[in-house]
Amino acid sequence: MSTGKINVSVENIFPLIKKFLYSDHEIFLRELISNATDATLKLKHLSSIGESKVEYGNPIIEVKVDKEGKKLHIIDQGLGMTAEEVEKYINQVAFSGAEEFLNKYEDGAKDAGIIGHFGLGFYSAFMVAEKVEIITKSHKDEPAAHWTCDGSPEFTLEASDKSERGTEIILHIAEDSTEFLEEKRITELLTKYNKFMPVPIKFGTKTETLPKPEGAKEEDPAPTQEVDNIINNPTPAWTKQPADLEEADYKSFYRELYPMQFEEPLFNIHLNVDYPFNLTGILYFPKLGQDMNVQKDRIQLYQNQVFVTDNVEGIVPDFLTMLRGVIDSPDIPLNVSRSYLQADGAVKKISGYITRKVADKLKSLFTNDREDFEKKWNDIKVVIEYGMLSEEKFFEKADKFALYPTVDDTYLTWEELETKIKDSQTDKDDKLVVLYASDKDAQHAYIQSAKDKGYEVLLLDSPIVSHLIQKIETTKENVSFVRVDGDHIDNLIKKEETQISKLSDEDKETLKTVITEAIADSSYTVQMEAMDSNAAPFIITQPEFMRRMKEMQKSGGGGGMFGMGAMPDMYNLVVNANHELVSEILNTKTAKKKERLIKQSFDLAKLSQNLLKGEELTNFINRSYGMIK
Ligand code: ADP
Ligand code: MG
Repeated sequence: MSTGKINVSVENIFPLIKKFLYSDHEIFLRELISNATDATLKLKHLSSIGESKVEYGNPIIEVKVDKEGKKLHIIDQGLGMTAEEVEKYINQVAFSGAEEFLNKYEDGAKDAGIIGHFGLGFYSAFMVAEKVEIITKSHKDEPAAHWTCDGSPEFTLEASDKSERGTEIILHIAEDSTEFLEEKRITELLTKYNKFMPVPIKFGTKTETLPKPEGAKEEDPAPTQEVDNIINNPTPAWTKQPADLEEADYKSFYRELYPMQFEEPLFNIHLNVDYPFNLTGILYFPKLGQDMNVQKDRIQLYQNQVFVTDNVEGIVPDFLTMLRGVIDSPDIPLNVSRSYLQADGAVKKISGYITRKVADKLKSLFTNDREDFEKKWNDIKVVIEYGMLSEEKFFEKADKFALYPTVDDTYLTWEELETKIKDSQTDKDDKLVVLYASDKDAQHAYIQSAKDKGYEVLLLDSPIVSHLIQKIETTKENVSFVRVDGDHIDNLIKKEETQISKLSDEDKETLKTVITEAIADSSYTVQMEAMDSNAAPFIITQPEFMRRMKEMQKSGGGGGMFGMGAMPDMYNLVVNANHELVSEILNTKTAKKKERLIKQSFDLAKLSQNLLKGEELTNFINRSYGMIK
């Protein structure tokens, strides 16, 4: 037996490990299973190139809990270590890795988010164990070694009689970590971190029901047998070639990934690239509808099939974090902070690649089956619109397949829309005016009057639509969007010919004063307009700019700086100077009757905008009864 002192500058590294990584204690198991997996795959490689004489066979990794002995065992059948290798890899390499890690931590990177996911390796065992043993036999013909360390820099190294190839790590679980002696807790960790690792992992056994033998009686119980309980799928779908997978395989992998998710994904995107970086994965478009809330089933990030995190912020462009699925890349540096990650060249390339793949997939869905794409539109538009807003490159691509639904349920691309409305909806200043509604029922009357003019009305109802409109207006030339209820239709798209006013300017001024006094509501600005005599006498509109700013503030960003949110709603009361009723108001002699006519017309206008409520509504009803009596 030999003893020694691990060569570190920090007198006692273990309390530090515990302290710094307190919240991440559970990663020890992932680290140890990763090492066991590495050792197994290394042996596979060596035997495949003829550098190891041992029979590779079908090695597994076993995790065992010994509750009474307060021990946790991790056993592999990998390449093992000789005594010299233990000296070198455990005492020197692993320790310097741990030390380097802690130095980084002390350099103020503690709040760095992703840091802590990787980097500590073997010594993370001491976060939960008061003593660790390694019993290992190399695939080379050399005696087995037994290393023991109790958490101080002193260790012992002696010979062992272990005869099978591989390594067994024994953790003597510390008093404050006994949760890791609970089978349930270990199962939880194994499913979280190791579900898709490439070497089969056994945790206990389970009972399997076998088919009944020929001629068995109805009442005979089916035979059973105890089999290894393998917790992982070593060859998950994303590690396979797209050509080897059917639609059903993608769907069943989705199930595997999110066992609690019962909704089917809409479609998937298989990522597979090895230059200039390595990345594989499968992304799924879930049904999103209007829901922009962060969901719990998120994209999972793996590194060589080891789960790292389901917070992919900084790696995947923001607008795609609403998708689901898996990304696996050894090229994402995980021991750095998120802000560093976002500036990292490789990560930027990865994010660009993912964006491009998603855009290409959407384009091909659109081209190959337009009808189906239209059906899915409402469920995917949030992602696409958000992407168009936030990524210039995506905007350019999406411009070819983004759809603009009309109130009559036809779906137009921008180009189709432009062609369709160019002649009828270009105003006198050569601006293309796009009319839209956000609610078919509430804006029914306005939609109707636009249609009567032969105009096309879009139905844009996603939560970020005001931002998107703003974006389109600034990107494309000479385009403006107006909501159908923004003004009287003749004012929304101003054409050359102006209506001749039946009233003189003087009459209009008089009327304006009378009406303003009668309605006595400062949130309305009275506006006299000469319109078609068949148009309504009073129309309430909300200026496009004002409404959009308010909406943008509600959904974040945009007009926030104007403090619009705190402002009351402002409306225009457009009075049609050419309507008969308006002339009647002007000519009515008795003040009382005049006021009644104004109030009644105003209330009717409010009613059609769904603005008449409470006491005002009661007054309106009573007044109406009075008028029909
Ligand atoms: P890393 O895995 O990043 O190299 P670790 O601290 O996890 O760092 O492990 C240090 C070294 O110890 C490994 O590189 C490997 O050589 C050796 N090692 C650890 N666990 C095993 C094992 N189960 N079988 C063989 N070698 C191992
Ligand atoms: Mg390791």
